[in-house]
Amino acid sequence: MTLLQGRTGLWEIIIGLEVHAQATTKSKLFSSASTDFGAEPNTQVSFVDAAFPGMLPVLNKYAVEQAIKTGLGLKAKINLKSIFDRKNYFYPDLPQGYQISQNSDPIVGHGHVMIDLPDGTERKIGIERVHLEQDAGKSIHDLDPNQTFVDLNRAGTPLMEIVTQPDLRSAEETGQFVRKLRTILRYLETCDGNMEQGSMRCDVNVSVRKVGDPLGTRCEVKNVNSIKFIQQAIDHEATRQIEVLENGGEIRQETRQFDPSTGTTRSLRDKEDAQDYRYFPDPDLIPLVLSQDDVDEIARNLPELPDEKKERFVTTYGLTSYDADVLVSTKQTADYFEEVAKSSEAKLAANWITGELFAALNKENKTIETSPLSAKALSELINLIIDGTISGRIAKDVFADMLLTTKPAKTIIEEKGLVQNSNADEIEAMIQGILDQNPDMVTQYRSGKDKLFGFFVGQVMKQSGGKANPSLVNDILLKLLQG
Ligand code: ADP
Ligand code: MG
Repeated sequence: MTLLQGRTGLWEIIIGLEVHAQATTKSKLFSSASTDFGAEPNTQVSFVDAAFPGMLPVLNKYAVEQAIKTGLGLKAKINLKSIFDRKNYFYPDLPQGYQISQNSDPIVGHGHVMIDLPDGTERKIGIERVHLEQDAGKSIHDLDPNQTFVDLNRAGTPLMEIVTQPDLRSAEETGQFVRKLRTILRYLETCDGNMEQGSMRCDVNVSVRKVGDPLGTRCEVKNVNSIKFIQQAIDHEATRQIEVLENGGEIRQETRQFDPSTGTTRSLRDKEDAQDYRYFPDPDLIPLVLSQDDVDEIARNLPELPDEKKERFVTTYGLTSYDADVLVSTKQTADYFEEVAKSSEAKLAANWITGELFAALNKENKTIETSPLSAKALSELINLIIDGTISGRIAKDVFADMLLTTKPAKTIIEEKGLVQNSNADEIEAMIQGILDQNPDMVTQYRSGKDKLFGFFVGQVMKQSGGKANPSLVNDILLKLLQG
């Protein structure tokens, strides 16, 4: 928990999110028009999406399954009966004049997401509900100075609105939560989590209170579409609200807009209450009734999720919780790790992936999917360390070469003559020579200057071109220096 020091004491920040996650489907929630991103304006609009008179919505079964899957992934209760309501408001990109959403009876009830905090502890963030609703179209204001255009391609796209309890306590924690939620949705393949394309966006509710006080009044920052902006919006809101309160003012419940160019928020409108929308059950849609069998069937086919995978990586591969966490951050990374681990050794595999490989991918702006090094190639390299062909030190050079040339580790080692020298007699002779050349150092070492050990190791490595087997060097050097 991060507390903010104000003039009048310590303040606590309270945050709750409403995350709009576009359900991954081929077609819209109530029509068969395509949901593909990036098509020419108004080319993916059915008569239902354009709200032509007399058109009737037909519920997309797959979108419902995606919502159920999401609910199960959030360890939430699936409501066997849910109701679609009309949420009435006027907007040029909402031709129906209402949005079909779920109000009193959402498809998913209480659940939770576990997040890892930097101090190594975990926190449970409550999920209040998940409901299904239609997205609106888009008003485009920046193509013409005098006109606004409307693109209805997005109208009717299925959204899952994921609402958290007001459980988050800092910008940092909120960032962790959004990353974790996105990972879960990607594992489930129910939302692509692409925040830049708007397929995941957040309304950020923020309030502040003195420690121990009841919850304060919240402001809602609408439609924030990156983790960095979410965090900036929280920090700005908290500071702003504390200042208002410490100057004797009060916070009005309102909807605010985030301005990415300044990192600040500004008032958009007073917050609407539910009654302003005149919610009522959509008369064109009967209640959505699921059978427990259908839900159980989906539960049985759920993929292994990040928390369970992490647990398994710790128990079956003996990884640290930290390494496991890094490796399960995407399913592709986890799969890559398992492929390497299965044909080499798990701990080394984890070290090489989270160390050298990630650094290389980062530098080249690549992901594990576009990695120039296959899991097979990396496991071959690791096996050459395990069987003593090369040292870990030389392996790093070979690794760099593999990235450049895409040649197998074995070929590079042969071509460059990098095979490790594990001949004890040869190494002993080399060490003896070095000791003979440095009698003063040897005397100093023997009179207690232990640090000189590293100097001798360095000399041996230099003379052997890095090829002397490091553990043999250690053993023999120790023996000769003590002798
Ligand atoms: P609405 O649609 O009116 O914004 P929702 O119930 O959909 O209402 O969402 C309310 C959101 O505000 C939830 O994420 C909840 O956690 C959060 N919230 C509620 N009270 C507070 C508060 N005092 N401070 C911060 N967030 C809050
Ligand atoms: Mg809201």
